[in-house]
Amino acid sequence: MKAWAAPEVRRLPGAGQIPLLHDQGSGERRISASGDRARMYVCGITPYDSTHVGHTATYIAFDLLGRAWRDAGLTVRYVQNVTDIDDPLLERAEQTGEDWRDLAGRQTDLFREDLTALRVIPPAEFVGAVESIPLVAATVERLRDSGVAYDVDGDLYFEVGTDPRFGQVSHLSREEMRTLSAERGGDPDRPGKRDPLDCLLWRHERPGEPAWDSGLGRGRPGWHVECAAIALEHLGTGFDVQGGGSDLIFPHHEMCASEAQVLTGRVPFAQVYAYQGMVGLGGEKMSKSKGNLVFSSRLRAEGVDPMAIRLTVLSHHYRDDWEWTPEGLSAAEQRLDRWRTAVDRASGADAGKVVDALREALAADLDAPAALAVVDAWADATLADAGPDTGAPDLVRDAVDALLGVRL
Ligand code: ZN
Repeated sequence: MKAWAAPEVRRLPGAGQIPLLHDQGSGERRISASGDRARMYVCGITPYDSTHVGHTATYIAFDLLGRAWRDAGLTVRYVQNVTDIDDPLLERAEQTGEDWRDLAGRQTDLFREDLTALRVIPPAEFVGAVESIPLVAATVERLRDSGVAYDVDGDLYFEVGTDPRFGQVSHLSREEMRTLSAERGGDPDRPGKRDPLDCLLWRHERPGEPAWDSGLGRGRPGWHVECAAIALEHLGTGFDVQGGGSDLIFPHHEMCASEAQVLTGRVPFAQVYAYQGMVGLGGEKMSKSKGNLVFSSRLRAEGVDPMAIRLTVLSHHYRDDWEWTPEGLSAAEQRLDRWRTAVDRASGADAGKVVDALREALAADLDAPAALAVVDAWADATLADAGPDTGAPDLVRDAVDALLGVRL
């Protein structure tokens, strides 16, 4: 499907470094790409409700990575899916009486508007689950034909024990996996499963639910295999970075990795597994089920500058869990004003050093708070300098734009 409009990304003099990223799989900082191109898959939304700032934080974090890669001279291949058919979407459509396709279309449009306003560089491939059903069904058929899937009352399950590396993304105990599986869309207690952790590949048609014809009979795919199939199709195996919110580590990314590894016979599915922390509100993780959400679209409708939303997100390290507060947004608005005043002063003090320091901060596991501190220090020095303008402020403006995605 169509992605969204790309912001202009200015070229800076010289080249940045390829960032080191914390890899959840190994627990170590690793180089985020090797060679002259970088391949990244970030899991997309299930479009049944507006994009809340927790989602926004995820796409901004991986946008920083894409920007750093481009600044280092790499060709970036970025793929993101949209889970435009899944249980939560159907449940919401059922509650409100809206056709599930209309709901998905409307919410995907809103998502595009949010990410355009936030100046997130779009993926090269923005892939819907519905448009991918033939691809995903063919992937499930291959898993079935290789003997790693089995039937439970007409539904097909993936046998996680067939992947010797199962567990190497999350490193959780089986008990923890079982708990998270039950909380996050799995069905560990379903009778007939060989292992409670085995995950659904294909759900046969139920009355009143959408279904598609396939070599597996009429039905629809499970969520995990959707991402495994789309990533393999558009990136191939062994790609550089698999990203998402930290609530995707298990079961989603563990299952995607195992399905793809069993299917291809090659490991690993992704070189680095990187995760955005959870954003909270009022002491709890922001989530649709709890209803404690702050929406980017609502903030924008209230007149909040999208660049202030972006700066609020960037004031936290992507791996940290943090709380959305009105004070945090207000601090970001003040920072944005101060930076804009400073670039308009046109003193241009030490602009080259600012670029170097920004590049260094991003190269160290995308340390956005350190990057913000660099620009703060430059703005302080510039605003304290009562002397005449010396020109060349555009370099700082361009660097903040190209590397942090913040237009001043
Ligand atoms: Zn996914």
